[in-house]
Parts: sequence; structure tokens; C-alpha cells
Amino acid sequence: MANCSQCKAQIDAEAAYCSKCGAQITTSQADAAWIAGMQEEIKQVTTGENTGGSIFFLSLVLIALSIIFSDILENLSQIFLVIGVIGAIVGLVVVIICGTKKSQLTDQLKRGQKNSR
Ligand SMILES: [Zn+2]
Repeated sequence: MANCSQCKAQIDAEAAYCSKCGAQITTSQADAAWIAGMQEEIKQVTTGENTGGSIFFLSLVLIALSIIFSDILENLSQIFLVIGVIGAIVGLVVVIICGTKKSQLTDQLKRGQKNSR
């Protein structure tokens, strides 16, 4: 996050004045706050994307294990298979949603603040 040039308090991207000391927020400060906010959002969706990818991968492993060890696991094998399939779908959906959101945010950041409002 960007900070107020007067009192160093954190400032919101939308703020025209510092909420702590009342100093007017300059355009460059507001831009810096907006960029920092966008970067933070991109970081969050990237984490979501990675988490979804991990869920998807682990689910595939679970599916593979349930098939390979179906003789040993017996009934458990079917449960593992169902969990694996559900997990793979959930993981994939999370990756798609976070990936889409990430590309939108990245585009917005590239175009810059002036054109996005
Ligand atoms: Zn201030």
C-alpha cells in the first residue's frame, strides 16, 4: 500500500484526503495506492490459482491410487475415486476462475488507472 506523504499512514486508492492527518492526496500518491492495491489483488488470485492447481494435481493422484490399489482398498477405492473426481473438478474450476480474474486485473493494471475508471 501507498502511504501519506505527511504522516506516513496507509492511504486508500479512492481517498482524496488522508484519513489520519487530512493532507490532500496527490495524483501520484493515489496512483501508487491504486497500483499497490491491484498488485495485492493479483497476488491473491495467483495464490488461489496455485491452490486450485494443487487440489487438481492431488485429486489426479488420488484417482490414480484408487485405480492402482483397487484390489487392496476394495470399497474405499470407489470413495477415493469419487473424492478424486470431485476434487479435480473443483480444482479446475478454481484455476479457471482465478486465471480469468488474474488476466482481467493484469490488463487493467497495464492500461493504467486513468482509463479504468
Ligand atoms: Zn496523513
